[in-house]
Amino acid sequence: MTKNDYLYEITQELARFDADLLGRFRCPTCLRDLPIENFGSADADNAISEEHIIPCSIGGKHTTFLCKRCNSTFGHRQTKWLVDWIELNEGGAPFPKDPKKQKARIIANGRKLNGSMYLGDDGALEFYTDRERSNPTDFDAYWRNPKPSEIKIEYSMPVFANEDALRVGYLTAAYGLWFKNFGYSFVLQSKLNRVREQILGSGLTTNR
Ligand SMILES: [Zn+2]
Repeated sequence: MTKNDYLYEITQELARFDADLLGRFRCPTCLRDLPIENFGSADADNAISEEHIIPCSIGGKHTTFLCKRCNSTFGHRQTKWLVDWIELNEGGAPFPKDPKKQKARIIANGRKLNGSMYLGDDGALEFYTDRERSNPTDFDAYWRNPKPSEIKIEYSMPVFANEDALRVGYLTAAYGLWFKNFGYSFVLQSKLNRVREQILGSGLTTNR
């Protein structure tokens, strides 16, 4: 089915609620009505745009439609932590593939070295110190004599500090799938007002 056919099917469903809505697209999140001709339009505010439900950077293939305003306001923000979470779960290791997505640090002989943790081929836990992300003076001093009496490891992943945002990311992806599969009759039920509020919520805070 082409995108235009799909949009036409969407507007036909909308017209079952109200015949005057034939030819219109209702954004499933902000509920604005826009003419379906606005699909792909250059009007940043009123265009209808296609959005990956799960970002394609992590293999998401399904898409749905949103107004461009919603797409650019929350589209990426809502799924930011979901991407990290899915990568983590599919990476086959307890650490993100991208070392920048973990905050790991060893404190050895009073010197702090930043780096990343990973699982070696033999299954051993390894710590990789990264000079670029450490204080170079501390880094060089440590490696001149790398025999500490005691090593302390600090480790965190930002995704765990952003659980609320991660939850909204899940909800946004689920909502996109519901809209794609069940259409307006499902997503416009008043029970889902609260879900839309959370997706649209501008008070979302993220910690790094
Ligand atoms: Zn919208």
